[in-house]
Amino acid sequence: MVQILREVQEACDWISPEAIDRLQATLGVPRTKIEGVAGFYSFLYLQPRGKYRILFSDNITDRMQGNLTLMERLCSSLWIEPGKVSEDGLVSVDKTSCTGMCDQGPALLVNNLAITRLSEARIDEIAELVRSNTPLAEWPADYFTVDDHIRLPDILLGSQMAPGDALRAAHGRAPSDGLMSSNMRSWREGLPTGLGGPAAMLDEIKRANLRGRGGAGFTTGLKWEACRNAPLKSGQQRFVVCNADEGEPGTFKDRVLLTSYADLVFEGMTAAAYSVGARRGFLYLRGEYRYLLEPLNAVLERRRKDGLLGADILGIPGADFDIEIHLGAGAYVCGEESALIESLEGKRGTPRNRPPFPVTNGYLDQPTIVNNVETFAAAALIALKGGEWYASIGTKHSAGTKVLSVSGDCERPGLYEYPFGVSIRQVLADCGARDTQAVQVSGPSGICVGPAEFDRTIGFEDIPTAGAFTIFDNSRDMFEVARNYVHFFQHESCGFCTPCRVGTALLKNLMDKLHNGCGSPYDFAEIEKMNQLLQSTSHCGLGHTACNPVLDTIEKFRPAYEKRMTRKDFAPAFDLDQALAAARQMTGRDDPGAHIIAEEFGEGSA
Ligand code: SF4
Repeated sequence: MVQILREVQEACDWISPEAIDRLQATLGVPRTKIEGVAGFYSFLYLQPRGKYRILFSDNITDRMQGNLTLMERLCSSLWIEPGKVSEDGLVSVDKTSCTGMCDQGPALLVNNLAITRLSEARIDEIAELVRSNTPLAEWPADYFTVDDHIRLPDILLGSQMAPGDALRAAHGRAPSDGLMSSNMRSWREGLPTGLGGPAAMLDEIKRANLRGRGGAGFTTGLKWEACRNAPLKSGQQRFVVCNADEGEPGTFKDRVLLTSYADLVFEGMTAAAYSVGARRGFLYLRGEYRYLLEPLNAVLERRRKDGLLGADILGIPGADFDIEIHLGAGAYVCGEESALIESLEGKRGTPRNRPPFPVTNGYLDQPTIVNNVETFAAAALIALKGGEWYASIGTKHSAGTKVLSVSGDCERPGLYEYPFGVSIRQVLADCGARDTQAVQVSGPSGICVGPAEFDRTIGFEDIPTAGAFTIFDNSRDMFEVARNYVHFFQHESCGFCTPCRVGTALLKNLMDKLHNGCGSPYDFAEIEKMNQLLQSTSHCGLGHTACNPVLDTIEKFRPAYEKRMTRKDFAPAFDLDQALAAARQMTGRDDPGAHIIAEEFGEGSA
């Protein structure tokens, strides 16, 4: 359903009532269900949003690079208000959450296609292209260039594995010389010959001690084993799903892996399918990476032609597996694996109750493994070189390497791959960061690290991360960083459960109140109460972690909050006298008696 709605919108610019009528008749699905699904995803529109739908990326790094000023410039040039559609119905301009272009921002999406490196000149050109109604296909191609920015490769980003090598190794055959790069040849001595079939492949993954790279760090081998051992009812099958819905603000490593290492990812998915006995796989690609859809489909097609996907892979009778790509539509919560599965099934992306877990009751209630893009890429390396080799890299509890998406205040933003155990200080030195005040590791739901902690290390023993590494120098206001993250959580709350839906909105209001200079120490207690409520009663991780950026920055950067505490006790969240301005204007009164004087009530009593 999500794919159909997305295609309707691509063809018609929005999902009109007439389109819904036709879908209802063709698919036999009730109108309310179609509208319910479309209404969930922020990139699907049930109202016209213009021929050009422009969304400015609004991550904290976009803010640091001046995205709001550029948005104002475009709006005033096009004579429209942010969030509205122009009177002639041509264009709308609004904000969206992080688009995964933090290393080359500020960025925007036009009809879901990313434009990076925005500048005043580029904004003026875009305004002209819109005004002249120039088809998107005729806009300058360099607008849409997205660079990889690989700064420090290791075993994964430095891999030159030829397509099929990992699968051959998994099946117990050495790669043919014709398919081996010079780099590969040097690996040959270490190649574990005769991994010998699905069970042995699973053993290698367990031996590698590979843990999920999406942040939670669950042991991959155990997940695959549970799926492999899950009983199948009649007509059921197993599924492999790659979670490429990287929406955590500050992370963009999956974008690069899918751009330049797609074979490695698909090879890892195929090895997983071989291991658990799955015949069908999905890549769930975030809507912000729409531009990758055709190139990735081309890679899949090539792999089918080369006998690496489809029926009898590598000529092994019965080794059937194929992958299709599903595109997300702007819902951060779909990065949660059960919400992702709901979305794959064509529903609203609401996280499921767990247990049961996807390994037994996943896609269409059938056994499913869901792993991150980087996890599958690592699995392909393990299939090729063996678990022991992989486990020897990194630390005792964090085997292998981690790819970090480095952005913010540094000279060389981009991807850095390190064996686990690297210190924050080392990463800062490598990327050319100076005068650093803080690093936000793993996005808003992660941890904010101050200078006293820069010797802490990346790894499951200390600071686990999905990959975001956002740097703030001493010129940055850490209160505003936290406020941006709180706005993000409020925007992305799926609204399913009341504590998160209401709690994130209240938290946002509290931070806005402080921003407006109406704060008091009372608000610290309110934030703590909100945290307890969200932690204990939210349905999923988004609600559980929504207060993290505020609590972390209060603890480590308290002066940034205290300077906003203009009163010692309770202060109203808004200015009552100011709120009555419209009434005074309507009644034509502006005499002293028409004003509220705060002192009359006593400070803090309003
Ligand atoms: Fe949705 Fe928030 Fe509830 Fe998660 S905690 S299900 S995001 S409302």
